[in-house]
This record gives sequence, C-alpha cells and structure tokens, in this order.
Amino acid sequence: MSSLGDLYQEVILDHNRSPRNFHQLDISSRKVEGRNPLCGDHLTLYVRFKDGVIDDIGFQGSGCAISTASASLMTDAVKGKTIEEAKLLFSGFHNMVTGKLMGTVDVEMLGKLSIFSGVCKFPVRVKCATLAWHTLQAALQSDQDVVSSE
Ligand code: ZN
Repeated sequence: MSSLGDLYQEVILDHNRSPRNFHQLDISSRKVEGRNPLCGDHLTLYVRFKDGVIDDIGFQGSGCAISTASASLMTDAVKGKTIEEAKLLFSGFHNMVTGKLMGTVDVEMLGKLSIFSGVCKFPVRVKCATLAWHTLQAALQSDQDVVSSE
C-alpha cells in the first residue's frame, strides 16, 4: 500500500500548492459557506448550474492541506457533471472516507478521488476531506428549491 500512500502525499501536496478552480464566480452563481471548526478549515464554494449540469464551480478559503486538496479535487471531479452524478460521487466519496466500503473502493467511479481512501483510518481528518463535499451538497439541495420555484 506504500505506492498509494506516496500517491496520496504527492496529490495532496500538488493540489494544496496549486489548487484547481481556486477563484470566485460571478454573482449568478450559488454561494455556500463551509466550516470545519475542529480543524479551522473554511471555504466558500461557488457553483453555477445550467440545465441541471454543474456548468462551473470554484472555491476560496483557507484550511489544512487535506481540506484544500479535497476541495480542489472535488471541483475538478464534479465540473460538467449533472446534479444526479454529483450526488452519486458525493455518496461514493463519503462512504469511502468513512470506511463504509470495507476496502472495496470503486476506483472507476471515483478516479483520482480514490487516493483519499486511507483517510478513513484518521477520523479527525475525515471532516477535513469531506468539508468541500458537504458544502457542495448544501449547494445542490438549495438549488432544488430554486428549480421548483421557477
Ligand atoms: Zn483540516
């Protein structure tokens, strides 16, 4: 498992050093705040929906390397996906980092996100790794209210 460990270190460091989609979107986007008081992670997520698809997504904030790298990878993973696909990814990711997959990680579905599989051994870190995803879920759910009122 050392190769996955090395890959984990490498990807976390890379995405922490130069996070992808690290920018605000214009005012037409949905803006949701996420906080993890346990670690001091804080992020603001911007999501723009178009025809049920995540047309664009960005984030800003500050936190530990895991929370920043996770937000970076999350935004990369869901950009261009439908809301339903994003929800599936969320539950797959959440099950993986909370250890519910019992070692059977769906690498095909999760892709690069599967490097976080080792996080389930560190319960405190799970909150760092899932912060961006919980924030995304809030954005997806509040979008449904808007859709039904349109
Ligand atoms: Zn953290």
